[in-house]
Amino acid sequence: MSSSSNQRRRVNSDSLSGLSESGILNERILVLVFESLKWDVHVLCQAASVSRKLQAVAKRLLWKELCLYRAPRMVSELTSGGPASRLGGGFSALAKLLFYCCGCESTRHFEVSQPAPGHFMKSTRFSKTSGRSFLMKKCGSDLLYVSDPCEHPTGNKEDDLGIFRGVFRGFMKSKTRDCLIRRGVGLEDGVNCPYCGARCWSMTAARLVPKSAARRLGANEGEIEYFVCVNGHMHGSCWLVRLSSDDGSDDDRRDDGDFDQTVNNGS
Ligand SMILES: [Zn+2]
Ligand SMILES: [Zn+2]
Repeated sequence: MSSSSNQRRRVNSDSLSGLSESGILNERILVLVFESLKWDVHVLCQAASVSRKLQAVAKRLLWKELCLYRAPRMVSELTSGGPASRLGGGFSALAKLLFYCCGCESTRHFEVSQPAPGHFMKSTRFSKTSGRSFLMKKCGSDLLYVSDPCEHPTGNKEDDLGIFRGVFRGFMKSKTRDCLIRRGVGLEDGVNCPYCGARCWSMTAARLVPKSAARRLGANEGEIEYFVCVNGHMHGSCWLVRLSSDDGSDDDRRDDGDFDQTVNNGS
């Protein structure tokens, strides 16, 4: 059955149970309400936790609309390319990735003296050019967006903790996934994706972290670990090197603005 006939059936069964008469569950009204709120992510989080029905509407429609409003260029890139670029984990996971820094706990290859809690971000810049620095040469045709590192100062170590996140387009068909599978890399025990809950590969364990990744972040080589989940979300941590004022001319960190997407929450 096609998805549109599925949708029709769903709408019909909603009408039968009287749901379509209830304003708050009328999808058109919901979209208009959220449009007037400029798709505020906090309000949508609260609305989606009110009832299962609202949660279902959010999952099917509202998270997608929010992502399109907040990150139009990035969403269009991530979903272009036909069925091969199916968005792993859905739009609710993408929305969380756009707005939420997942914090950091010690992992097999990266130790912190105390965990850094996750938190919402007011603004994050994602870059496709940055993403390239995280791909091995043979996986260079993959498309990956990576955020600038969120800086978490630590009291007891000289360097700051940098926490970053990202997302692949069409991860199922990507060269990176192909590489992980062909190398027989196992999924990492005890690490789940903070965005969709799925299991992850450690790119550090898989030896798939190019030197350019640490350079890009402004981290020491070897002081970086990141994970990619089976749905193509990436999250990781590094120790950021404090730059003196005359070190700021690193061309590698400069971007072509066309490849960027700054995601803001709120007006
Ligand atoms: Zn953070
Ligand atoms: Zn995930």
